Amino acid sequence: MFALAATAAGFACAAPPGPAGGRPGTSVPAGDAALSRQAGPPGKPASGAPGPAFEYAYIPPASRDLKDIYRRVREADLWRQLPEVQEIDGMFALPRRLRFVTAECGEPGAFYRPEQAEVVLCYETLRALYAQGQAHQQALGLGKDHPLRYLRANVRFMVLHETGHALVDLLDLPVTGRQEDAVDQLAAILMLRFGGLAESPGEVIDDLRLVANWMLTRSTGAYDLDAFADEHALGEQRFFNLQCLIYGTDPDDFAGMIEAGDLTAARAAGCPRESRQTSRAWVRLLLPHLAPEREAYADEAVRYLERGG
Ligand SMILES: [Zn+2]
Repeated sequence: MFALAATAAGFACAAPPGPAGGRPGTSVPAGDAALSRQAGPPGKPASGAPGPAFEYAYIPPASRDLKDIYRRVREADLWRQLPEVQEIDGMFALPRRLRFVTAECGEPGAFYRPEQAEVVLCYETLRALYAQGQAHQQALGLGKDHPLRYLRANVRFMVLHETGHALVDLLDLPVTGRQEDAVDQLAAILMLRFGGLAESPGEVIDDLRLVANWMLTRSTGAYDLDAFADEHALGEQRFFNLQCLIYGTDPDDFAGMIEAGDLTAARAAGCPRESRQTSRAWVRLLLPHLAPEREAYADEAVRYLERGG
């Protein structure tokens, strides 16, 4: 039910049927949000046992034309190259082991399968994203490294988006409003909070901007009832929601976004509050589920919440 189905226009998070396979890894985020632990966890309390680790797997594709992608992904150990996934591996007291698998799906996509507690990233998605990156490179005269950068940035975000669906399911997190919007927010927060551990904040922002561009590529500009009724916001709306979260983290630094047309002045005015509110909400939701051995994150999260934003 939650998957990224890619079409010529792009990818949508929906749930296609998919194969699965796998092995392990795990963690929780200490983001920027607020609320003290005395406020008490809604939902289930954290257990005293260590959280199960994440599992990582690369399932061989049946299609010959996907075998090269499979080989590259497996040799690169893609799952262990995603900084935010590695950072949150072991962070939460999950009731089940969460698996991350790459697989042949029959179409581009990424999705979470609740029955198997599995985040699936399709080889077809990797191929499609690389092709999109190549098209941008050629159309805009970008550097040779653009297709891979575009691929990596979007895989990071997609996987975190699906991980958000997984956390909502496994931790029984409350969601009011569209879950698709909520997990987009979580993906951005995780990148802003953890992505910078191995790279500069500017590099993380650059990746988020490539994700925003991907969201725009999903737009056909001619929406019909299906698009309006979809569980996802329109591509343009996802674009501006993400830009707002970025801008809201540092309005002074990102003032140029408004002049560049990446955000309207009217929306920008509320983005610092929106960004703060979103981060605090996710921290409050996740804090009660931190694995006991991640006490340092809990302390950081509580301090964040107590600062009051
Ligand atoms: Zn989704």
